[in-house]
Order: sequence, then structure tokens, then C-alpha cells
Amino acid sequence: MKKKQMTERYTLADLENWREATRDLNLPIRLGVFGDPVAHSLSPQMQNAALKHCKIDMQYARFHIRANELRSALHFLRELDFVGVNLTVPHKIAAFEQIDEADETATRAGAVNMIRLRDKKLIGSNTDGEGFLRAIRSEFSVDVRDLRVMVIGAGGGTGHAIAWQCALENCERLVLVNRTLEKAMALADQLRPFFAGPRVLGPVARLEAVPWDEAALRAQLQDVDLIVNATPLGMNPSDPAPIATRLLAPHHMVFDAVYGPSKTALVRAADEAGARGANGLSMLLHQGALSFSIWFDRDAPIHVMHAALL
Ligand code: NAP
Repeated sequence: MKKKQMTERYTLADLENWREATRDLNLPIRLGVFGDPVAHSLSPQMQNAALKHCKIDMQYARFHIRANELRSALHFLRELDFVGVNLTVPHKIAAFEQIDEADETATRAGAVNMIRLRDKKLIGSNTDGEGFLRAIRSEFSVDVRDLRVMVIGAGGGTGHAIAWQCALENCERLVLVNRTLEKAMALADQLRPFFAGPRVLGPVARLEAVPWDEAALRAQLQDVDLIVNATPLGMNPSDPAPIATRLLAPHHMVFDAVYGPSKTALVRAADEAGARGANGLSMLLHQGALSFSIWFDRDAPIHVMHAALL
């Protein structure tokens, strides 16, 4: 009998009837990404290229899992023969509360972007922070520790991971911005010990949580080198840029964690301001390569994954 290709995306109902949903597949699905939305995710093409290259006979699929379905989806995962999954918007913080164990990277960020299964237990890690560091190095040829960084969306799973990584790197200065200011303030309280020493010249504080309004952003951006968007703003072509062109200057490096569309509203705003801009494709690559190494305890074929994304 002819074997089937996997479908574009699976759902919670498919996980419930997994044997039926995946009957006669050419290769078993044992990895995937849970998200809502998830159709944009390029993780399957990148991870499937790596699996094929390494001759690992399994596939990586997309799963459209809504926020209120995460607990059930994770429950089914424990019973199925999965190696693990990635988690994307909006699951990273909620999943942290629902896994069985968390490693240091996940515990620090209070968020998980990847899970591996061991003896029916869900073990969570976070590769977003390290993936971000590598992306900044490859996009701008600089190290985060030398930069004054602004993270917009500091209340979300990705914003937490990025802010923690900046603190661990002892970056020059960190400004946390969030629509719900209280969340940025709570994160700043956790990170304060990392910024106790004086490092920046001048009167500005090394760590601040500020409201998301134009006057506050304008005042901060004079003392910022790298601006990071860690909100989902930009995923829809109709989204506004999280920072308007008029607030950007040519000395800014602008990094959008969003990678689809490739010219996000923020990257376009950076272009218009004469600043250097990059979308999140290289962070996707690096966090995905780190996930692969954790699942299979081996180096990821990063060049193959990169080529698959391009
Ligand atoms: P999340 O946990 O749902 O985070 C949402 C964050 O964005 C919160 O800080 C939230 O603010 C803010 N936010 C949401 N909608 C907003 C809006 N309309 N206006 C202003 N702020 C808004 O999501 P996530 O998992 O961290 O993902 C965030 C984005 O990063 C997604 O687009 C994801 O695709 C991208 N990402 C990319 C990579 C990569 O490898 N390139 C890796 C990770 C994530 P409140 O706290 O006020 O709600």
C-alpha cells in the first residue's frame, strides 16, 4: 500500500486518536511544534532536513494547539512515543507550570521553548536565550555583553529568556518594556543583582522597566544600542511596527524575533531610519539547532538546517 505524507498541521483531536491520525505515514511523527498560530512556523522544514541528513527515521510536524488545550496536549504527549516538542506563542510560560522537570535555562526564564520526553516525563529547557545570543553575533558581529539593550515584550516567554540572557552576559544596560508594565517591573526585580556594579558612563540607570509610551521610549532610546522585539507584533502583515521609524536612529541595531514575513514592520522601520535591522530567522536556526542537540545528544547539522530555511 502507498504510504501517506503527513498533513500541514495536526490538532488536539488528532493527538487523541493518534494511531488513526497517523496510520500509514511514510515515517512516524515523533517531534513537533505546538502553537497558536502555528501555520507560519518554519521549524518543520528546518528540523525535517536535519533528521533526513542524520538518517533519523522520524518526522517533525506542526500542531495547532490553543491556549486552553495545552494541558490535554501535554497529557497525550506523555502517553505517546514522542522524542519531544518545541513550544511557540502563546505556550512558553504556561508550559513551564505543566512540565514534570525544568532544567536551569527554563527555571531561570520561567518559560520553556522545548520539551524532551524521558520515561514518560516532560523535561523542559529554554534554548531561546542562547539562540538569541548566537543570532546577534551572526547578524551584527557584536556581543550582547558590550551593548545597551532594550527588550520590548519583556512580559512574554521569549522576552523573559532574552532578558535573562542579557543579564547573564552582563550587558552594559537593559531596558525592559512591556504593554503590561507590572510584568516588566517584576522581571527587573529578579534581574537587579546582575546590574549592581557601575558600568555605563553617565547618569542613566543600568536596569530599568519603563512604560510603553512614546515619551518614555524616546528618552530611553538615546542610551540604547540594540532594540529587540519579543512581542508577536509583526506576525500579521497589517501589524504596526512596535517602534515607529521616527524614534529610530542610524546607530541602532534592530532585532525582530518575528521572522515571517521576512520584512517585518519593524525591519522596514529600521530600513527607513537608516538603522541596521534583522528578522528572527537566525534565532530560529540557532534555538532549533540547540533543541536538536538536546533531543539527540549530538551536534545539529546547522548548515543543512540553514539551507532548508533559505
Ligand atoms: P508570548 O509569551 O505570548 O508573549 C507575548 C508578549 O508580547 C507579552 O509581553 C505581551 O505583553 C506582548 N504582546 C502580545 N500582543 C501584544 C500587542 N498586540 N501589543 C503589545 N504587546 C503585545 O509570546 P512568545 O512565545 O514570547 O513569542 C513572542 C514572539 O516571538 C512571537 O512572534 C514568536 O514567533 C517570536 N519568537 C521567535 C523566535 C525565533 O526563533 N525567531 C523564538 C521565540 C519567539 P503583555 O504582557 O502585556 O500581554
